[in-house]
Amino acid sequence: MKHFLIVGGGVAGYSLTIALLNKNTKVTVLDSDENHGSAVAAGQINPIVFRRMNKSWRADEYMPVARNLYEELESFSETAIIVDKQIRRLFAHNQERDEWLKRQELPEYEMYLEKLSEDDLNFSQAINICGSGRVKQSYYVHAKNFLSACQNYVSNHENGAYRKSKVNHSLVDAAKIEYKKEAFSGIIFCEGYKNFENPFFNFLQVDCTKGQLITVRSPIYKEESLNRKCFVMPIGSGEYKVGSTYEWNQPNVKIDDAAKELLRSNLASLVLERFEIIDQIAGIRPTVKDRRPIMGEHPDLSGLYIFNGLGAKGYMMAPLLGQELAEFILRGTELNKEVRLNRFKKKC
Ligand SMILES: Cc1cc2nc3c(=O)[nH]c(=O)nc-3n(C[C@H](O)[C@H](O)[C@H](O)COP(=O)(O)OP(=O)(O)OC[C@H]3O[C@@H](n4cnc5c(N)ncnc54)[C@H](O)[C@@H]3O)c2cc1C
Repeated sequence: MKHFLIVGGGVAGYSLTIALLNKNTKVTVLDSDENHGSAVAAGQINPIVFRRMNKSWRADEYMPVARNLYEELESFSETAIIVDKQIRRLFAHNQERDEWLKRQELPEYEMYLEKLSEDDLNFSQAINICGSGRVKQSYYVHAKNFLSACQNYVSNHENGAYRKSKVNHSLVDAAKIEYKKEAFSGIIFCEGYKNFENPFFNFLQVDCTKGQLITVRSPIYKEESLNRKCFVMPIGSGEYKVGSTYEWNQPNVKIDDAAKELLRSNLASLVLERFEIIDQIAGIRPTVKDRRPIMGEHPDLSGLYIFNGLGAKGYMMAPLLGQELAEFILRGTELNKEVRLNRFKKKC
């Protein structure tokens, strides 16, 4: 039986691990447990890009596969992973509302854009300038429950193993596909923004886009997630996550007052209620200039692979991409050309 080593237990590493386990292979996951991506993420699944009011890249393919994986893990772990809080966009200007009105009539948007009703246009539970619209099929993933369900799933699987351990790249023998003298059928690096520490793949530029979030306590409307300038996500007990900032080339997770003030003022422009800020955290999105993930085999070292660059939408994309990468590794099925390594022409 083939045995793979996965380095990194974020949404990328676990999506691939589960896909490989489902294809009757053995998988060992090593994770340093310093996760500043998947563990911090709001986990929102939103097929619509509000700025242009169009669909996210490959959203129609990602959405059903993501939901399936989260439902499966939910029934395995008996914990809540899918939180069905629909996203309500409060339109920033009339043009956004008019775009929505146009698109809601198109068959390809019917499954995502709720037709605007009088109630949506006059929505009064937040500061409403030009009306609002609800995104069908949107929800958020409870990130902490997801990660602990994955860890348990792998540990309990007859062909799976999980170890908390930071991989020392100097102990990887690339020619023999070994780590600490143990041989594998392949080693797949899913290290998020830490890719810069990886001597095999750090020629691929994975940027660090820092994001800060605040948690507030307030009697804000709690039936849905609200969105304009920031998102406001109900997390229970009268608390909400509000985010997030986009800070380019910031490989650190320090929180600061400038981000807190920006989120505070964005929230104040969206909701009517007073709120108290009770927490603030920061994480890092692994992003790529062309906004496409990076997946595939090393150009010179066969048996070494990468799965990275999931940017701001890892929770939506990783479940399908993990399956596609598993197919590529096991059967050589071609990857989508937009994610391949050979688009970084100079080095590959
Ligand atoms: C503030 C914020 C909000 C976000 N909101 C959303 C959202 O609403 N929806 C959404 O879909 N996405 C969101 N994201 C993006 C999402 O978090 C990322 O797309 C996703 O987490 C990337 O997953 P990953 O597995 O590639 O990396 P990570 O989650 O960073 O996982 C990498 C893992 O590798 C481990 N690792 C690294 N190096 C080593 C090593 N040498 N040895 C062993 N282990 C190692 C790390 O400990 C870590 O656990 C958000 C991100 C941030 C920061």
